[in-house]
Amino acid sequence: PKSEKENNSVAKIKVVVRKRPLNKKEIARKEDDVVTVSDNSLTVHEPKLKVDLTAYVEKHEFCFDAVLDEDVSNDEVYRATIEPIIPIIFQRTKATCFAYGQTGSGKTYTMKPLPIRAVEDLMRLLRQPVYSNQKFKLWLSYFEIYGGKLFDLLSERRKLLMREDGRQQVCIVGLQEYEVSDVQIVKELIEKGNAERSTGSTGANEESSRSHAILQLVVKKHVEVKETRRKNNDANELPGKVVGKVSFIDLAGSERGADTTDNDRQTRFEGAEINKSLLALKECIRALDNDQLHIPFRGSKLTEVLRDSFVGNSRTVMISCISPSVGSCEHTLNTLRYADRVK
Ligand code: ADP
Ligand code: MG
Repeated sequence: PKSEKENNSVAKIKVVVRKRPLNKKEIARKEDDVVTVSDNSLTVHEPKLKVDLTAYVEKHEFCFDAVLDEDVSNDEVYRATIEPIIPIIFQRTKATCFAYGQTGSGKTYTMKPLPIRAVEDLMRLLRQPVYSNQKFKLWLSYFEIYGGKLFDLLSERRKLLMREDGRQQVCIVGLQEYEVSDVQIVKELIEKGNAERSTGSTGANEESSRSHAILQLVVKKHVEVKETRRKNNDANELPGKVVGKVSFIDLAGSERGADTTDNDRQTRFEGAEINKSLLALKECIRALDNDQLHIPFRGSKLTEVLRDSFVGNSRTVMISCISPSVGSCEHTLNTLRYADRVK
């Protein structure tokens, strides 16, 4: 059937790299742009010194499903990543889109518009006759994982607990879900959630780089249930059967995973958590790619939370964000090597 063909034609795993332009600070410091893009490949020109201190440039070439240069718009990013997946969300697909990269590489800039565009497209499809009479509804939730713990970004950072039912379904107890009826609501919820993102004890905005922010759009088929089954107001207990799901994940800054030797105990702990989750994520995506039956999702809170998105009809998009500046060369190479391993 047509639907199945459509379903299979969307790659199971897609790895995309996005290069941002040099920013004002980097330009003021007269930093070189060391990343060149050509089609689906890119080259990092790393300045190095020989033992006799003569300078040379080491070239590192990488190839991905797509490489998006600095002049590529957010809308084009959407079209290259999420757009093809939207129609198959109604066919029991669970899609996950990650933004990976060092702090300041453009993860939030890249991620923020994607769910908004996805909602526009999902709502348009929901209005089509094939879907409009099926009682489908769209729900949004937004939470973060910080130091291995879950916090609801849409309900005053309420602490959340994860539970698994016997059918490989992950349930986040108490997670607030909002019904989405138009794009404006989505914009407001994202703003609200972003303002709640972890600011830590220092109050510095950069603390948000130590947390993973997870925004989920869930399509549910509305079903009537008897009042007695509604024990509590848990969003997960609300009537409705999950049809499909798209998760947008703004990952913690990849360089934070190296904070494991910091003098501050809390920073060390958070660094170890981030390191563990990014490693576990890589292993899960690799297992998915190899069609392994066993997906090692228990490796971290992040992968456990995403468990149901790693089984069955899943789609994964990894957007690796990189800075072009020479000062970020080492982090850029780390990001590209990580992306290379999941591809
Ligand atoms: P991260 O979330 O990875 O820490 P941000 O998304 O906050 O990084 O980006 C850092 C800064 O760079 C922000 O001011 C953002 O507006 C800017 N920026 C990031 N990517 C781009 C881009 N592709 N084009 C223009 N500006 C960008
Ligand atoms: Mg950010």
